[in-house]
This record gives sequence, structure tokens and C-alpha cells, in this order.
Amino acid sequence: MTGKNMSKNLSKSKYLSGLQCEKRLWLEINDPDKASEAPEYQKRLFEQGKEVGITARSYFGEGYLINTDRSKIYNCVGETQNAIARGKSIIFEGTFFHDNTFVMANIIKKNKDESWDIIEVKSAISIKDEYIPDLAVQKYVLEGSGLKINGTWIMYINRKCVYPDLSNLFVIKDVSDRVEEKIHEVSGNITTFKDVIKFENEPKILIGPHCNSPYACPFKEYCWQNVGNRTVFNIPKLDYNKKIELRERGIILLEQLPNDYPLTDVQRKYINWIFNGQTEIDHVGIRKKLSKLEYPLHFLDFETDSSAIPRFNGTRPFDKIPFQYSCYIMYKNRDIEHFEYIHLDQTDPRLPLLESLVKNIKQKGSVVVYYAPFEREVLTSLAKSFPEHSLQLTSITNRLWDQFDIFKRYYKHPDFRNSNSLKSVLPVLIPELSYKELAVGEGNQAQLVWNLMIRTKNEVDKNQMIEDLRAYCKMDTLAMVEIHKLLKNIV
Ligand code: SF4
Repeated sequence: MTGKNMSKNLSKSKYLSGLQCEKRLWLEINDPDKASEAPEYQKRLFEQGKEVGITARSYFGEGYLINTDRSKIYNCVGETQNAIARGKSIIFEGTFFHDNTFVMANIIKKNKDESWDIIEVKSAISIKDEYIPDLAVQKYVLEGSGLKINGTWIMYINRKCVYPDLSNLFVIKDVSDRVEEKIHEVSGNITTFKDVIKFENEPKILIGPHCNSPYACPFKEYCWQNVGNRTVFNIPKLDYNKKIELRERGIILLEQLPNDYPLTDVQRKYINWIFNGQTEIDHVGIRKKLSKLEYPLHFLDFETDSSAIPRFNGTRPFDKIPFQYSCYIMYKNRDIEHFEYIHLDQTDPRLPLLESLVKNIKQKGSVVVYYAPFEREVLTSLAKSFPEHSLQLTSITNRLWDQFDIFKRYYKHPDFRNSNSLKSVLPVLIPELSYKELAVGEGNQAQLVWNLMIRTKNEVDKNQMIEDLRAYCKMDTLAMVEIHKLLKNIV
């Protein structure tokens, strides 16, 4: 143990990291550069969480927001104490420090008997188990700071809320009993974590299913660098408890798995396939699937926004709102046309988008998509919201043909790394087509960029973002076109 980390304090998020994995906690404090950059979906969730937090405050009327610069954490604690001393009864983002641990409470509310309630706001549609230790550490630190805590609550999104009536956007549930069951663990955990962060070297902890649960660990690339997909945790549909049990026995790599370990045929096939490393192509299956296609072929892809706080008539939280599509049409003589639509402002994108879609998609011909449940959901929801177009939209839905099925059933390649997504398949089959060169490289990033683009007042930035979004969506559909040509050649 060295003295280099003696002054390091914990925070609520570090406490939760420690609960997931002590190595994660150690790395976050002592070697944070080993973390991978946060994936786009996490950035999107973070932005959404901030928006939900701000909206939640408005349901409490006049509260006092601790607005001090967050990098000066002791000042935030001081301002919170001042607010309490001045008799503020609702405090947003109050910051507390006890037992070397900082926590920030989304909302605290004073009761008539001078006790307080803690309300944790979550941008989710249900209460997850991991929210309970989050509230337990808050309660522990607030009580240690001298507050009497009465209840602990979770405020989360109500999927039944329908815009424009946002009066029932949130559900608030009392979880005091569940928090009480965890509170006695907090002090011991903090003591352990304070020791862990002072270790000279990172703790030796095996990888396992905990690397993705309850949160995706940012050090996965680092810890998993030498094992890739050759672990027992990659075995498809293997029960979580069996994974834990194998890990406890020190069985991590597929090579270490006993030959007689009970597995299903599919799981055994997966392991053989990983070891043999051979490409498996079921030509008959592919030919049969391709034979169901009818010209002209439409290669279609939507980009959607999925907001926790609905903003268009008749929509609910987390509904998928299409704001862009790209469509290539391939005729029997191999001629190709391209159509697209992207919504450019903050108004409801659905009607103009669907009008463009039904105008451009022919009355006949298959509609090729990659993972049809997504497009089906978007089209069905559009048909429900705009019944005057339901006939055409239903016709498109009925003609969906899923290219994803080919890679789920008939085409396996070791370099797909056990994933059938377009982003995994494309670089292996058509290496010259790549998302790497694009400024927007995945769907969640497209959501982020679209939300920025419709709000920016800077024309240059706006035009650049429009171009980036167009290039991304077009790439998704061009990828399907090229994969289709390749499959035709194969069979
Ligand atoms: S990847 Fe797994 S083992 Fe490594 S720090 Fe994260 S949770 Fe711990």
C-alpha cells in the first residue's frame, strides 16, 4: 500500500462501481486511462437522464437548486448545508459528505416533523434492483451528515403517459423497506472500498458475467483483451447462474470447459464452430430465403428518436419516432434508384416522413430490411397514428423481408464474433464499405446528432450534421444492397 491515494474519496458512482467489481473501482481511481470511450448509447442515456432530472424538478414546485461548480465539491456541500440552515424544504442536487464519501441527492424534501425524504429520479420505465444500493448509500451519507431520513423513493417514467398530457409523466414509488434491508451493508462496503483504492496494484479479479451486469463496465476491452469470444460467458443462452458457477470453479475459457459439461446442441455447435473457425454457409437455406423476394426490391432503413419525455401528439415515453429514412430501389434489370427523407426542424417528423415514404415505395415488391421487428414497430405505430395512410403502410409492413435472418440461420463466419448485426457482418463480407470513415457510425449517435441538428442556430454546423446523418443512413441501406448482390453470387 502506498500513500499516493490516501486522500482519495469515494462518491456514489464509485461506491456502485465497487459493488459491481473492486477491480473496476481501483481502475477508475488509479488508472482511468484504461477505460474505453463511453459508447454512443451511454452518452445518449446520459443526456436523456439530465433532461429527465430537470423535468422531474418541475413537479415539486419551488425547490432550491445547488448550482455550485461541481468540480468544487466541498463548496457544493457547504451550499447544501447553508440551504438547509436557511430553512429550504425542497433541495435539488443537494451534496453531502460523510465517511469519506460524497453523494448528490436528486431531490430531498422536508416533512412536517423535520424529517426528510430522498427522491431518486430515474430515466427508466421500471424499478431495477441496482437502484436500491444507490439509495442506501445516499441514505447512509445523509444520515451521517445529520439529517433524519424518513422515506426513500424512486421517481421513474410512466409508459402510459400520452403527450400532450404530461401530468402523469412520472410514477413515484416508496422503496424504503428495500433500502432498509441494504443500509446495514453500506458502512462495511465503504471501509472495504477505501482499502481497495489504496492498493498498490489492481486487484486480481476474474472476468465474468458481472462485467456486463448491472452496468456495462468501461474496462471490458482492457480485461477481456486476450480472450475475445472464447469464454464460457459467450456461450449462447447459457444460464446466468451456470456462468457464475463456472467462474467460481475458475473455468473461464472454452478450452477449460469439461467435455462432458451439459450443453444444448446449439451451444455445443457454437463451441465446435469457435474451435474449428470455419465459415458455414447453408446454400439451400439462403436460396430458399432469397426465392421469396419480389422485384422491385426496396432496401429500407429508418433512423428513430426515442425520448423519455414525449413531445409529439399521441406519443408515449420511449416511443420510436422516425425522423429519417433511406431507401434504394433495385429493379429486375439491376437499375438502382435512391430516395431519402430527413426531418430538419423540431416539428413532428412523422407525417412528412411517411408521406415521402408512401410516395416513393412502389405498390409491389419486397421491402428488404435488417432486423424486421424494428421497422415493423415503426410502420405499425405510424399506421395507428395516421389511419388515413394505414393501407399503404400496412402494405409495406406485409412486404418486409429480413436480411438479418440469413445471418441468424444460414451464414456463420468466425469473424462476425458471434454477432449477426449489420455492423459485424458488413466489414467481413464487404471490407471496402466501412462505417469507420463516417462521422456518424451508429444509430444512437444518429439520435444524438439529430437532436443537436434540429436545435442548432449555426447554419454551417447544421448542414454538416445533415450531411453526416444522410451518409450514415445511406450506408445502412447500401450495405444491404451490396450484401444482397454477394448472396446472389454465392448461391
Ligand atoms: S471488465 Fe469485468 S473484471 Fe474487468 S474491471 Fe470491469 S467488471 Fe471488473
